[in-house]
Amino acid sequence: MNIRKILILPDPVLRKKSLPVKKVDKDIQNLMDDMLATMYDAPGIGLAAIQIGILKRIVVMDVSKEPEKKEPMYLINPEITWKSNVNASYEEGCLSIPNQFAKIERPDKCNIKYLDYYGKKREIKAEGLLATCIQHEIDHLNGILFIDYLSKLKKDIIVKKISKNKKELERIVV
Ligand code: ZN
Repeated sequence: MNIRKILILPDPVLRKKSLPVKKVDKDIQNLMDDMLATMYDAPGIGLAAIQIGILKRIVVMDVSKEPEKKEPMYLINPEITWKSNVNASYEEGCLSIPNQFAKIERPDKCNIKYLDYYGKKREIKAEGLLATCIQHEIDHLNGILFIDYLSKLKKDIIVKKISKNKKELERIVV
């Protein structure tokens, strides 16, 4: 397992649309192992393949409440089949937008179909944090970031902050 580099806003790759996985083979499983290791290392509760620069519709997540009890989830080609009309709001963050958080409203429940680690078809009903996290990650597969739900002003502030931090970091590295 390798820890991969997470792409940071405003990397243009984050805006690309990921493509469906045709076959779940060993390469895809190795990729998911790397993604999970990268997510735990960050640490985060969800990571889409595009965040490590791979344009495949793959998401890994772990929304378990106790940190010592790991409950990894692997979602390949996830699709929302139903969304509730009722919204819930969470303070969202993103590994590609470090240290920035904003309250985002999304449907509080949704149903998802996907392929699991072994390529088996699965369907789940999600609610609460799981529903929010899945929707956030599926957005990544479509090039959408949580800041897109904010007003232009709020979004611009975050983009500016991140670009500034990124430049400072690069200066230190150089
Ligand atoms: Zn994210």
